[in-house]
Amino acid sequence: VNQVGSSLHPNVIDFLQGTKELFIDGRFVPSSSGKTFKTFNPATEEVLAVVAEAEAADVDKAVRAARRAFDEGPWSTMSGAERGRLIYKLADLMEEHRLELAQLDTLDNGKPIRETTNADVPLAIEHFRYYAGWAGKVVGQTIPVAGNYFNYTRHEPVGVVGQIIPWNFPLLMAAWKLGAALAMGCTVVLKPAEQTPLSALYLATLIQEAGFPDGVVNVVPGFGETAGAALVDHPQVDKIAFTGSTEVGKLIMRQASQTLKRVTLELGGKSPNIILPDADLSRAVPGALMGIMFNQGQVCCAGSRLFIQKKAYDNVVADLVSMAKTIRQGSGMQPETEMGPLVSDEQQGKVLRYIESGVNDGAELLVGGGRPTDQGYFVSPTVFANVRDEMTIAKEEIFGPVVAAMPFEDLDEVIRRANQSDYGLAAGLWTENVRNAHYVASKLKAGTVWVNCYNVFDAAAPFGGYKQSGIGREMGSYALNNYTEVKDVWINVG
Ligand code: ADP
Repeated sequence: VNQVGSSLHPNVIDFLQGTKELFIDGRFVPSSSGKTFKTFNPATEEVLAVVAEAEAADVDKAVRAARRAFDEGPWSTMSGAERGRLIYKLADLMEEHRLELAQLDTLDNGKPIRETTNADVPLAIEHFRYYAGWAGKVVGQTIPVAGNYFNYTRHEPVGVVGQIIPWNFPLLMAAWKLGAALAMGCTVVLKPAEQTPLSALYLATLIQEAGFPDGVVNVVPGFGETAGAALVDHPQVDKIAFTGSTEVGKLIMRQASQTLKRVTLELGGKSPNIILPDADLSRAVPGALMGIMFNQGQVCCAGSRLFIQKKAYDNVVADLVSMAKTIRQGSGMQPETEMGPLVSDEQQGKVLRYIESGVNDGAELLVGGGRPTDQGYFVSPTVFANVRDEMTIAKEEIFGPVVAAMPFEDLDEVIRRANQSDYGLAAGLWTENVRNAHYVASKLKAGTVWVNCYNVFDAAAPFGGYKQSGIGREMGSYALNNYTEVKDVWINVG
């Protein structure tokens, strides 16, 4: 592994050797076909590891194992407290191995080590701890019905869950999916993104070490159209939880409707970030820049449409440009790096094509707009000014470090324009006026509204989208519903 910067943990060096196998029924096994695929280091474009490629036959094995662990136990027959203890144990093991997890996500995804160390990994650990605490604490109701009946509800686990996750926060997305499902007593087949399967496989070694019963968690790296689709189609899967593009989300919903699986979706966005004239610009400008540039802009809730009130527009744009120029780009493994490469060649190409479309549509490219180096999938932090609502770069999700700055005149105009989107995942607002804060927050059609902050997360706070940004909420107590069926019981006591 030719990786400059911080030295790799010996466990990471070991882990990257040999073919990484699938995790099915508590064991690491090769794929049925013997096929493998490569995962790349996006900073160097070099092969990072070789991974067994799951296809339909492997997904079937994993689903059967999950089915057994659910139907016959022990998972579904264990007490909530026992499940919670195992989840806490997993969180403790993750803490012990946090350096390895951080390095693997940085190597596989490209994101800065300072972010995997300070955000992805600790958030993932806290996520498991939060849901460990919920295990055994979800209770039904006793309902006073008419007549001589005793009526009560049971909140039962939904069963075997297929979870399909993206590459932008590989470990954290695995945690978001697994936490609530395991706490509620479901068993899981997890398909990581083909670009970033490594941290989920490392997590599987910790799941094994923690002593989870066989089949409770299975990890099947592979491609979307094969492994992912097989999971969505499998008749013994009760529910699909998906995070990824809106396009694939729609496809999954259609496919899952064949067997009427429960579906939750966390999809794309084109989130507005609004700077009101009464904002504290010393906080708003860096906040808005972080709101789009964090994770190389590969964030579903990235504040990609930046609305700035006319009076402050010129100053804010000038400050944004000068701050964007100071962002330190480089290999994610360098401790000083603030922005790494994009995840893949494909993603880099897609972002560069969007930048080209912005230029062709007549937006003003003020900084960035290209590749800073020949090697690695980097794209420079890019600021467009004088973008109009109807331009492609103002409508479509770019999923890269590209912000579209747009002036506005008054409050109701900006609320209307902010809501004029097929998406509704998140929104940001910068103001020192409490009335404006609550008024705009109530009007924005978005699952999360951040006021004087952006990209803040906590396992206890729900996250998900309005409109085509998704269905359902992850995190907080809200996510528990995704993994339970409500059973109503009538007892005739007459
Ligand atoms: P992106 O375009 O950002 O890679 P995708 O939505 O394509 O996002 O991918 C998110 C996840 O969905 C990945 O794990 C991918 O393998 C999976 N996926 C892609 N296509 C399908 C599909 N047709 N069925 C099931 N899963 C899919």
